[in-house]
Amino acid sequence: ARHSGADAPSSNAELFARAQAAIPGGVNSPVRAFRSVGGTPRFLVSARGAYVTDVEGREYVDLVAGWGPAILGHADPRVVQAVTDAAARGLSFGSSTPAETELAELVEARVAPVEKLRLVSTGTEATMSAIRLARGFTGRDVLVKFAGHYHGHSDGLLAEAGSGLATFALPGSAGVPADIAALTLVLPYNDLDAVRAAFAEHGDRIAAVIVEAASANMGVVPPLPGFNAALVELAHANGSLVISDEVLTGFRVSEAGWWGLESGTEHAYTPDLLTFGKVIGGGMPVAALGGRADIMDQLAPLGPVYQAGTLSGNPVAVAAGIATLRAADAAVYAHLDEAAATISEAVSTALAVEGVAHGVQRAGNLFSFVFGEEVAGGVHDYAGVQRQESWRYAPFFHAMLDAGVSLPPSVFEAWFVTAAHDEAAIGRIVDALPAAARAAASA
Ligand code: PMP
Repeated sequence: ARHSGADAPSSNAELFARAQAAIPGGVNSPVRAFRSVGGTPRFLVSARGAYVTDVEGREYVDLVAGWGPAILGHADPRVVQAVTDAAARGLSFGSSTPAETELAELVEARVAPVEKLRLVSTGTEATMSAIRLARGFTGRDVLVKFAGHYHGHSDGLLAEAGSGLATFALPGSAGVPADIAALTLVLPYNDLDAVRAAFAEHGDRIAAVIVEAASANMGVVPPLPGFNAALVELAHANGSLVISDEVLTGFRVSEAGWWGLESGTEHAYTPDLLTFGKVIGGGMPVAALGGRADIMDQLAPLGPVYQAGTLSGNPVAVAAGIATLRAADAAVYAHLDEAAATISEAVSTALAVEGVAHGVQRAGNLFSFVFGEEVAGGVHDYAGVQRQESWRYAPFFHAMLDAGVSLPPSVFEAWFVTAAHDEAAIGRIVDALPAAARAAASA
């Protein structure tokens, strides 16, 4: 039966109730449910440029950007056209296409350590496959990851630090076998002594260290200068690989991602494998793993490490990725840096006016805030992030939302700007800040 506009549900609250009956928690990815800020999630019906519109017809300046992909702004005409054209030629072939090679070449031209690239559909698949590849290549089983880093939801990555340093992890989710979690060592981020201790004790068992190139899934916590380079050096000295996860930072913080920001500096580093997602698909399901050709060639069909996907390299999705990367030139990244600086300074000023102690956490054009005197000087790891007065964020978030600005619905997420955040959009954000800062102050 066709629903007319009139009998279709029209409020966020109504839709959320209906969604909760049909879908676990009413959402298809947990953070969308507003659990950490409370209230009713907005059901979006359209997005254009720097703005999203909900089912009630309210428009918000958006600082989520689809959790990263919409680097050009939503529904960029060049990307939409590329997708529309590709769709008209067929949705999925399950066969090779010219566009797949073009996307791989675009990535390889930008990020030198990527000699070969394999396309998958999600960041989770990219990291999961990179880990299998690292294990297959080294013949070792143990994986090192850092507390507070997110690499998707595969079993071994949903592991939580056990007690003490360099002990093996416990399952971080129901359904993860303890034996799987126990193959992951969880270390404090930015702590090279912990990395050295882990290699000293378990070096010959460690296949790889997986690390966010700059962490942005506990709020933003950049690597200390030289951390990535030291990590590569320590891993290589022990016959282990480094998987630099650029799912979030890749093609967002620079044309060559976080690697690009550090290459050419005294802290340059060369990871063995890199993972990409988000921007590489321009809002469509594309992700990738890439790196040293001799390692990548261990993947099937050439090598013994199996990896596959019906929708891998999907032509419609790949068209969006190519159009996005082509349009994301130096001018776009300069604009993103400037918008990030303007917005983060405005937030900081508004909070200071209301006497809210806080720190600004920045990694390139990614930023977030930590609340409280104790963390105002900035934090470097997960324990630091957790020391903040996190309860100040919910009232801040809701004051912004009421004023028509959509922020990430958790203090432990990065804020995302786009090329479409112009003076008018930034002006709306700035105008909303005083009331939000007051709400944070009185929380
Ligand atoms: N790695 C990082 C660094 C991420 O930020 C994310 C998603 N936020 C993932 C992996 C997982 O990607 P996906 O959600 O596409 O599975």
